[in-house]
Amino acid sequence: MAERHRSFKAEGIVIKHQDWGEADRIITVFTRELGKVRMVAKGARKIQSRKGGHVEPFTHILAQLDRTSDLPIINQVETVEPFMELRDSLENITVGLYVMELLDRFTRDEEGEDLPLFQLLRETLLRLAASTDKWPVLCYFQLRLLDVLGYRPSLFQCAVCQRKIEPVDQFFSPMQGGVVCPACGEKHPNLWKIQVEPLRFLRHFQRSTFDDAAKAQVHPAVREKIDKLIEDHLSFLLERKLNSPRFLNSIK
Ligand SMILES: [Zn+2]
Repeated sequence: MAERHRSFKAEGIVIKHQDWGEADRIITVFTRELGKVRMVAKGARKIQSRKGGHVEPFTHILAQLDRTSDLPIINQVETVEPFMELRDSLENITVGLYVMELLDRFTRDEEGEDLPLFQLLRETLLRLAASTDKWPVLCYFQLRLLDVLGYRPSLFQCAVCQRKIEPVDQFFSPMQGGVVCPACGEKHPNLWKIQVEPLRFLRHFQRSTFDDAAKAQVHPAVREKIDKLIEDHLSFLLERKLNSPRFLNSIK
């Protein structure tokens, strides 16, 4: 009996690819319709392959796929936007791959349509392609990613007592989900410290449009402090996510 194939369309941005067998590739795409999807590009590694050029990371593609009992197979694929600018320097590639890796690690296969996340990814690539200074783009992306994923850190009220945060040095607790005021911080050991300057810019980025956020003049030393805090916070969330029952169930 002939196997039934169900054909479907998906529009998305290529997160990564890996070689598969002699000539094929598995490409991971963040799609508009289904969230993250792994799909097979048959023959993508053959030199003459017309599909090969479409499966590079960052490429915005429109694919026609066939459902199989295993991963869906790409039947046809066209490029919507190649984002060539993101491939023209090592810095651009590194920054682009960092965005892709974060997205990859915070999502699971076929979680369903997530338009805010898809739009955030697309806007971030457009901004990276158009900006000389990538720092505001990355910082903004990370904060919006936390919003979209439901981990928006509390930066205006103490995450413990809910009192308004005053313009003095504060604490930060990934466990509590944000800034902890000095009074509450005294009672909790091992909290991270956050100074007024980095906090001021974090708050500005969190509540502003990208265009407004990008206008801020942030000193390199302050940028470093912000990066460290965001990276540590993301690492904490990823570890907790990896240890969560929901994640363990999903990989069983
Ligand atoms: Zn407090």
